[in-house]
Amino acid sequence: MNKNATTSISSIYGPVHSWRLGKSLGIDLIMDPSTCSFNCTYCQLGFIQKITTERKVFVQTKKVLDDFRASNWQSADVITFSGSGEPTLAKNIGEVITKIKKITNKPIGILTNATLFNDPSVRAAVAGASVISVKLDAPDDKTLQAINRPASGINLNLILSGVQKLKKEFHGKLQIQTMFMPQNKNQIKELAKLLNEIKPDEVALNTPTRPYPSGWDIITRGAHGEDAKKIKFETKPLKQLTPEEAKEIEYKLKESTGLNILSVYK
Ligand code: SF4
Repeated sequence: MNKNATTSISSIYGPVHSWRLGKSLGIDLIMDPSTCSFNCTYCQLGFIQKITTERKVFVQTKKVLDDFRASNWQSADVITFSGSGEPTLAKNIGEVITKIKKITNKPIGILTNATLFNDPSVRAAVAGASVISVKLDAPDDKTLQAINRPASGINLNLILSGVQKLKKEFHGKLQIQTMFMPQNKNQIKELAKLLNEIKPDEVALNTPTRPYPSGWDIITRGAHGEDAKKIKFETKPLKQLTPEEAKEIEYKLKESTGLNILSVYK
């Protein structure tokens, strides 16, 4: 797909059902191609087309606002910045949040991998959100490389220091979301230690419910349930936690952190 093809595609998708956030209208500030500072082995977008930490404007603010006004935003519970990659890579995220808040007072969520929060301008840009859901799958760099395959220069210490800075400044709800994979499902003690340092408002325990596509197409950004069948590439189902494993992890995390734990299995 190229830029000309995507100008006719909306930067808004859904609403889709998000088990963490409810009926969620997605805002995609990245679009084409998929661009992220991670390349997670479970990403619903498949192998990330552009792995980078470079911030820029991918989709003009005017287009996002026009698409938003034309969308079915009234039916959503929450407006969520997610889409075809890492939303904080978009330099206009702060401007878009401010302008969307002039149109609606619905809560605004951001799903992020937290790789850019050492940059004060990124923290300032997301300050207007109601909830920030930060991905934290790895308690060490080896697991970070195995699961999240970050852009060069990103390591766990850098991510954690950014999250700590965000936690000090952000007045909304800070959620940590952890995807459990074969590589980290036995690292509960190590993950709990990090959670005790961060002290988020809640933890969302996840397992890969969406398949991993062998190629990228913009449709993958909102491909939940039946929509996942529309992906034209071959998809690979990923190993999920059993409900018993999820229950045990939830119990252990709750016991060692005292935090509120949400689970995809509830
Ligand atoms: S951080 Fe999100 S968008 Fe980026 S590769 Fe991981 S799952 Fe995909």
